[in-house]
Amino acid sequence: MRPARALIDLSALRHNYRLAKSLSGCRALAVVKANAYGHGALECAAALDAEVDGFAVSAIEEALELRAAGHRQPIVLLEGWFEASELELICQHDLWPVIHHDGHLQDLEQANLSKPLNAWLKLDSGMHRTGFSPQIYPTIWRQLLASGKVANLTSITHFSRADEPDTGRTEQQLEAVRSATADLGEVARSLCNSAGVLAWPQAHGDWVRPGIMLYGSSPFGFPQPQAAQLQPVMQLESKIIAVHQVASGEPIGYGSRYLTTRPSRIGLVAMGYADGYPRHAADGTPVLVDGQRTSLVGRVSMDMLTVDLTDLPASGLGSHVRLWGKGLDAGEVASHAGTISYQLFCNLNRVPRCYQD
Ligand SMILES: *Cc1c(COP(=O)(O)O)cnc(C)c1O
Repeated sequence: MRPARALIDLSALRHNYRLAKSLSGCRALAVVKANAYGHGALECAAALDAEVDGFAVSAIEEALELRAAGHRQPIVLLEGWFEASELELICQHDLWPVIHHDGHLQDLEQANLSKPLNAWLKLDSGMHRTGFSPQIYPTIWRQLLASGKVANLTSITHFSRADEPDTGRTEQQLEAVRSATADLGEVARSLCNSAGVLAWPQAHGDWVRPGIMLYGSSPFGFPQPQAAQLQPVMQLESKIIAVHQVASGEPIGYGSRYLTTRPSRIGLVAMGYADGYPRHAADGTPVLVDGQRTSLVGRVSMDMLTVDLTDLPASGLGSHVRLWGKGLDAGEVASHAGTISYQLFCNLNRVPRCYQD
């Protein structure tokens, strides 16, 4: 059997969720959209079920899978509904949609709901992707509460640069939240993604929304003390399936991207872009072989990639290979491929996921 697989450590997932809870001291929605960032939504939800305050997903399809699996916690639909016809199911299953644009308000006006919604109202505090501007936000808030269509409202906004140090943007967004909600009385608030949970204690509010941190990957491109406490959940692993001796000055793989600079031992790994390993990973991308760091050499193929074993004489056919996980941060691998760990995880494909509790 092909040795490529993703080991998913569910106790690390619980550790990371508890870290989000203890750092924020408030309720935390486990963001399990996009199949829990490639980690398997149902398995991750089951592992958190006994302690989680709620889940967040991007669409009703994902929420209904969680309900069908028996999860009774609140489920926030981060993008609300896409068609008004979803509203009846949203009521039936008590899903909490985010209302984020005028079309949603019109749908609600025309809807005949079987019961009022528990809804979240999106404030555009400066990211300019979704939500209502601070100027009109209080009016819409009051209109919704008066409409009888919502049972209660939570205020939600999203930071665009909470993962960066000292841009001033997050403070501006916090100020926009304060001014937009100042006259609304007691308002439950949700502001923070993982970066907010880890680095913006003054923004924690009533509900936080950790995503990437649950999976043990830091949202920051620099060392950060809270993020240092995260435990990687996914180990992407395979084995060396062949070894070749290659002379100096010889090309390796498609396009001859890499030329050996010395007589080299090249190891072939059963892992490729069809598995989700990034095709754009550059020569020099770190790879662990038997726990030791070495480098990717040559372009990544669909099913295989090549690593330099010249300095690892004890490793060879059958050696254990880790592409990311404990001991090799997915964010570091991602930076060698011009992307972020989020995308590496979401792109995971074909490899079986093996769960450890
Ligand atoms: C995906 C998402 C999150 C989680 O973001 P992370 O950076 O993965 O923590 C939080 N809030 C919203 C609105 C999202 O869409």
